Amino acid sequence: MTERLDKFLVSQGIGSRKEVTRLVRRGSVMVDGKPTSTADCKIDPENSKVTVEGKEIVYRRFLYIMMNKPAGVLSATEDRKSRTVLDLLPPPLSRRGLFPAGRLDKDTTGLLILTDDGEFAHRMLSPKSHVYKRYAASTQNPVTAADVEVFKNGIRQGDITFAPARLWEEEYQGRKMAFVEIREGKYHQVKRMFEACDNRVVSLKRLKIGGLSLDETLQEGEARLLEQSEIASIF
Ligand code: URA
Repeated sequence: MTERLDKFLVSQGIGSRKEVTRLVRRGSVMVDGKPTSTADCKIDPENSKVTVEGKEIVYRRFLYIMMNKPAGVLSATEDRKSRTVLDLLPPPLSRRGLFPAGRLDKDTTGLLILTDDGEFAHRMLSPKSHVYKRYAASTQNPVTAADVEVFKNGIRQGDITFAPARLWEEEYQGRKMAFVEIREGKYHQVKRMFEACDNRVVSLKRLKIGGLSLDETLQEGEARLLEQSEIASIF
């Protein structure tokens, strides 16, 4: 498979089409050890060795990004009124085709994965994959033993059912919080499960997806690429 050099460089987050053309014209880009001055030359993304200003480009077919989502930002690709999580990505991590793999409510914070790999997202989100998502919630009322049972048995609300979930309390960042693990991702699921127990979620943060934990060194709004081993740890 071959691809135009400029298209390849844009897809790898090197810059806009205009910027990468300028880099090529300036002689900053080498293909297999030879400088090239034509941005529309063809390269093999998997096998060509491409360097920009002496630095080799590690080819990534798909991007897998971890974000510590802040409150007040939409888990969407675009919105006319609000900022979206895509607006927070720094240029090297921006690429056409990225989307949040699963949504967090606007006021929910924490672990969000962005990718352009649709198959991966589908696998991660499908309840059949049994990938548990862990949340820390602060709630209006303390969690009771009866609530733990309700979550454990699953909840039926009209024609909606929520599969059995784990609920427990634990110290988190110096406060006692309710921890919830669910493997579905229904709309407002955690909030609605607490409502079914006559309780209310005051704040909600996702901490874990499968075996992948939020990197707490990421400040809210920051994002970084996932390592291969981290991607594997999800399943
Ligand atoms: N459950 C919710 O209620 N909200 C989220 O953002 C995620 C899970």
